Amino acid sequence: MSKALEITGLSKRYASGVEALKGIDLSVENGDFFALLGPNGAGKSTTLGIVSSLINKTKGSVRILGHDLDTERDKAKRSLGVVPQEFNFSVFEKVEDILVTQAGFYGITAAEARPAVEHYLKELGLWEKRREQARNLSGGMKRRLMIARALVHDPGLLILDEPTAGVDIELRRSMWDFLTRINKAGKTIILTTHYLEEAEALCRNIAIIDRGSIVKNTSKKELLSQLRKQTFVIDLDQAVDEGLQVSGFESRVGGPDSLEVDILQGESLNGVFEQLRQKGLNVVGVRPKANRLEELFIELVRGASGGVSKPALQKEVE
Ligand code: ADP
Ligand code: MG
Repeated sequence: MSKALEITGLSKRYASGVEALKGIDLSVENGDFFALLGPNGAGKSTTLGIVSSLINKTKGSVRILGHDLDTERDKAKRSLGVVPQEFNFSVFEKVEDILVTQAGFYGITAAEARPAVEHYLKELGLWEKRREQARNLSGGMKRRLMIARALVHDPGLLILDEPTAGVDIELRRSMWDFLTRINKAGKTIILTTHYLEEAEALCRNIAIIDRGSIVKNTSKKELLSQLRKQTFVIDLDQAVDEGLQVSGFESRVGGPDSLEVDILQGESLNGVFEQLRQKGLNVVGVRPKANRLEELFIELVRGASGGVSKPALQKEVE
């Protein structure tokens, strides 16, 4: 069976000269729930924009459920439902009509579309509002309308660009539940997010994108196992030797009078303190080196080109 999405050597250089994608490869299996995770400006929307034919690529190829976007564009588009980051429906059109119009773009008549329109409006709590103009919906309802519209032609693959950015917690939960349900029923879902928690709660596989390159592409399980380690900075009351080690722990000298120690989930720092005390070193301060998302990025990008700029990440995490 063909993959839900297969991206090969995809590059994008905007007219401004910005190289938003630097030849990325990405492959998503049928039935997967996949997250493209990365900080602002990483290239997430550019990737999804190209996949959904809203942005022209510079180089590379995209296949959606086996259909090449260049040579079988109609079939590729028919296989795909897209929920963009911004609302882009006509606010004067009625909710129901927005779905029927959308189905029309795929050659589905109003009568043929009826069952799917009813199904998704009911599923997403919009059935009572079907005769309202879209402008009369709350922000949360508009977002659900975008999802219903993306599903009305029954695509095999649903992609959502930051579906819960700026959405309140209650709506976020109900959207997560809905997406989980349709994924279990067989739809492949790809979403972009800059919330680690969202990728963690929903997805089976995760790719991390940073500055136009994929820096990691693995299962959530594997990714979380890398997260089960936290680095602490231990400040000491005197200068330490370059060779200072604590047995049983990964550690390194972090500064003239500080030591960095990796603590695995379930491990205690007490053993470290005890060993330092035996060496005649007193601890004057302990702090985590970075928060979880930063920790993950630092872990992933270590050894890779460039590294992640800390200010950019800090902005994400606040
Ligand atoms: P993300 O969705 O991960 O936040 P984007 O794909 O929107 O990232 O942006 C990737 C890079 O491309 C950023 O440097 C951004 O400023 C740039 N970019 C995005 N859209 C345009 C555009 N229309 N013209 C020029 N540069 C753009
Ligand atoms: Mg974006």
